[in-house]
Amino acid sequence: MRKEQMREKKLEAQICQSCGMPMEKSEDFGTNADGNRNEDYCCYCFKNGNFTNPDLTMDQMIDKLVGFSDKMGMTQAQAREMAQKVIPKLKRWQKRA
Ligand SMILES: [Zn+2]
Repeated sequence: MRKEQMREKKLEAQICQSCGMPMEKSEDFGTNADGNRNEDYCCYCFKNGNFTNPDLTMDQMIDKLVGFSDKMGMTQAQAREMAQKVIPKLKRWQKRA
């Protein structure tokens, strides 16, 4: 595979702009109020046009991801470090500057 193709493939992978979860299958995506697929957020964060947990803060989201560290095969410290890098860059958390 040529280098350009590899880069293109990477761009296609979408992550949830709230929790950072990779979204691959269409059921991974959240839904808009009209029932269409929401391209920005996953099914756990966004349903029927609303965040499932609208009052969640960025710190709480990071804590939540640390709770999944076992599933991701990381220690809690590693999961926290990763979450602190990824989460603040996501669209949902950038509006509250
Ligand atoms: Zn999400």
